[in-house]
Amino acid sequence: MAQIPQTTIVFPKDCIKYCIEGHPESPKRVELIYNALIDKFEFVDAKPAKKEDILLCHTEEHYNRVLNKDYFDWDTPVIEPYYPLLSAGSAIKAAKINGFSLSRPPGHHAGRNFLEGFCYFNNICIATKKLGKRTVILDLDVHHGNGTEDIVFGDEDILYVSIHQHPLYPGTGLESRENRVNFPLPPQTGEDLYLKILKKALEHVVDFKPEVLAISLGFDTYIGDPLANFALKEESYEKIGKLVGDVVNEFGINYFIVLEGGYSSKIGDLALKFFEGFL
Ligand SMILES: [Zn+2]
Repeated sequence: MAQIPQTTIVFPKDCIKYCIEGHPESPKRVELIYNALIDKFEFVDAKPAKKEDILLCHTEEHYNRVLNKDYFDWDTPVIEPYYPLLSAGSAIKAAKINGFSLSRPPGHHAGRNFLEGFCYFNNICIATKKLGKRTVILDLDVHHGNGTEDIVFGDEDILYVSIHQHPLYPGTGLESRENRVNFPLPPQTGEDLYLKILKKALEHVVDFKPEVLAISLGFDTYIGDPLANFALKEESYEKIGKLVGDVVNEFGINYFIVLEGGYSSKIGDLALKFFEGFL
């Protein structure tokens, strides 16, 4: 069985340089995770993605929209295009080195021709397409990755598997069709049900026989998260990390992980727990 290397953290420092007053998607989220992991992992930098990388997943119209700051969305304020490009570049780098892209803005609500939900470009899809290998995208953010689903639909080399809360924004992901496997779970879902469903989700991962497992990792499944209503506890993340890590190791699957959501002040501890279980 192939030896799977330990996770390297891809951290493009500039990703904490922008801040929208009062917005939950703040630089503090990344800083908290950085502080929790800095002593335990190797960190590397990343460069912004190129236009040709973005066009692997998005329309030219959408690329121009972000580049020209020609959009309006309450949740997704206008920012310098450098930051979404940098975050996509960070995911691309992570995909090459079994890494964790510790960056912002997140990406899984950005579709082929739309932005929303704090997401401008779909980082995990761009990195997956750039790598060009048979991949399962496992989405563990509490919100359904409607943008990811939009982009990968009909792609025979990619399977999308998501566990998410319903009802909750964006309201999609209620059924499974073709290369999309969705597990909508009710508010107040706790560790027992979550882990049971995660095991089912991981069966889909294994059955697809991927070369790569790409993980959209959100920490907004935590009981104290202000934007959602799941009830996972701090120790749950170690168990989640272990279940996913066991599959990666047992089947010799390469992987990369991309930060999506998570808005509580505990996000650093939750990330550390995940990686303690995962490695
Ligand atoms: Zn989320």
